[in-house]
Formats: sequence, structure tokens, C-alpha cells
Amino acid sequence: MSTLVPLLTREQIDWLPERAREVVEYRKSGLSLNHIQGCPLDCAYCIRHTYGLWDQRQPRALMSDTEAVEQLVSHRYFQPHVTPVQLFNRATDPFLPNVRPHTFAVLGDLNARGLRNHVLVITRHAMKPAGIDRLNQLVNLKVTLLFTYSGIEDKRIEPYPSHVAAESLKLMSAPSERKYRTVLYWRPLVPGLNDTDEHLDQAHALSLHADATVFTGLFYRDQIAEYYQANGLPEPYEETARRKIVPETLEQRVLAAFSDSTSLFRKTSCAVSYAHELPDYNGHYGIRELCDICPLSQLDLCQRGHHVPTAERLREVARDLPEARGLVVVDITERAAVVSGLSEEQPRYYLQHALGFQVHDVRHPHHAHRHGRADIGWKDTPTDE
Ligand code: SF4
Repeated sequence: MSTLVPLLTREQIDWLPERAREVVEYRKSGLSLNHIQGCPLDCAYCIRHTYGLWDQRQPRALMSDTEAVEQLVSHRYFQPHVTPVQLFNRATDPFLPNVRPHTFAVLGDLNARGLRNHVLVITRHAMKPAGIDRLNQLVNLKVTLLFTYSGIEDKRIEPYPSHVAAESLKLMSAPSERKYRTVLYWRPLVPGLNDTDEHLDQAHALSLHADATVFTGLFYRDQIAEYYQANGLPEPYEETARRKIVPETLEQRVLAAFSDSTSLFRKTSCAVSYAHELPDYNGHYGIRELCDICPLSQLDLCQRGHHVPTAERLREVARDLPEARGLVVVDITERAAVVSGLSEEQPRYYLQHALGFQVHDVRHPHHAHRHGRADIGWKDTPTDE
């Protein structure tokens, strides 16, 4: 019998920071379910810093798995078979020994409902062979396991070694017949920490096991920078940013190291979609320069799935959301719809997934060739998307 995580009382839940109480939250790559929070793996750059949850090292549940699934599928942002779902990607690792049974319970419940949504499960933990059978039973869902691997050796930044994720990736990718897909989630790439030629070659060798690879940088937010400073950790950047940071020269070196690869992507949704032989569900195809590393078969798939919506269609989809009532369509091009009037990011992600098309906020312009990343480390380019 597996050990489950303790269930918090109502009173304990009321004491949690407000954002930690938000069990269903739209994040960039999907609607995220986080009814279990707390993690002992202590990665210094953990997003838990930004939720006031850094001190919560032991996983605890805010509700039962059944209640959580019910909240997810009845959420106004959830669209059956369409909305990509992410499980436990904010505040715990889904394959910690006492979180694992909850992960399988949620996946089993969603699958039993006949749902065909993408479900992304991101882990750096050790996995067991028994997990292969469990995941192969999920015949409806499109499950992708993403293995967080950085190659960072500094124990102050990542006390839990990267080679564990590497072994898990190999184990779970080994069966030739499987229902689920595997992605090498190569992150965070940080200049000076894990970007030597040797690091890049190791990641390349590992990528040969996975169905696809995505590389990305570090979310260096204010709260994470404060933690670095307070603990005397070497700071990777002089400033913080709301987007992930991948400097231009590092990206060029990554592309060179993977020049013989046809399964390297800049965007998580692209890697996941490619692994399932589907068009990118985030509609990145409009951002043409993102696709210059993509194989022709995938380009073709994405091109066929790329439909520029009319302003009327956008407003029609937005009508379902009270928080999008003030939506103004500023511009629509082949690349993206630019909107204003949304007070937060979550409804924007909803629109993006409902339409399979990029929706940008006029307040946060995307720069051409920067792939939606932070400006840090990139020379000035004159064009905005
Ligand atoms: S063709 Fe473009 S949008 Fe489609 S998966 Fe490749 S990079 Fe992503």
C-alpha cells in the first residue's frame, strides 16, 4: 500500500498564501492542477519562491484527488479534449514517492472520463519500471513525461542530481511500444553554470533517448534573486525578468551542438505536439522564425493546423469569460492576435488554446527572433511582433 500525502485541514488551508490556494491555474503551457504542494528537492530557482511556499518542503494535499479532478474539469477554462493540462508542475514533483499514487489516481480519473486532452507531467525524480505499465493503460489521454535535466553540478543550486532525471528518461523511453511520450526538458540553461561544450554534448547524447527535446532558460524573478542574494549564491544575471532568459550566443551554440537533430524545439508545446505527431497547440507556427529548426513533416502538420481567426471569432470565444469582457482586439496578423483589456494572463492562455493561435498582450510586445524570451542577453532588434 502506497503512502499518501497528509491532507490539510480547512484552517491550515486558510493560512496558506493566497496564490497557493489557487488549485487550478492557467499557465503558459496549459491549465495546471496543483492540489498537492511542497517539495524536498530544494532547487534554488524553484517557482515556489514566488508563491510564498518555499518553506513547505513536505508535500501536503489541499483536497482529495477526486475533488481536485472535479474542480479541474468543471473549471471555466477547461475544454474537454482541447485544453492542455499540467499536473503538479508548480509546487511539487509528481513522482516523489508519496505524490506518485496521487499522480496516477488523477491520470486514471481523467482517462476514465474518456478525455483526450494533452497532459504534461514534469519530473526530475527517479521513476520505476512499474510506471510504464500504469501509463500505458491511459489509452485516451495524450500523456507526455517531461524530464527536467540541467547538468548543473553546483549542489547549492540543485541538490538533487541531474543524472537521476537522465536515468528516468532512459528507462521510460526504452519500450518501443508506448502510449505516452517522453521529452528531454533541458532546463535551466544558465551561462557559466552548465553551458560548456561538454554540457551541450551530454545533453545531445541524452536527447537521443527522448521523443523530443526542448531547451529553455531560467525564470529569474525578483523573489528568486532575493533568495540567491540572501544565500550567497552566484547570481546568473544582473537583472530579473518576467520571461525565461536564454542569451543569443548560447542559443546559437545549442543549435550548433544539435545540428544533426530533427527533434529539438524552443517551445515546450512544440516538443510535446511533435512527439504526438500533432500541430502545435499553442499556434507558434505564425512566429515563423521559431520553426527554422523544425522537420518538414512537422512544419506541414502545423501549417495545416494554422488558421488566422477573425476579430469577431476572437470576441466570440472571449464572450464565455467574464474577465475578458473588456477585451479589445488591437491587431491580427499571420503571426498573432494582439489584444488589450485583459487584467491578467490566464484568459489570454484560454483564448490561445481555444483558437490554437498566438494571442499577445499589447502591454508585453514580443520581439522578432527572440522567441518570447526575456530581452536580457540579446542585441537590440528593431522589429516588434
Ligand atoms: S512547425 Fe513551428 S509551430 Fe510547429 S512544432 Fe515546429 S516550431 Fe513549433
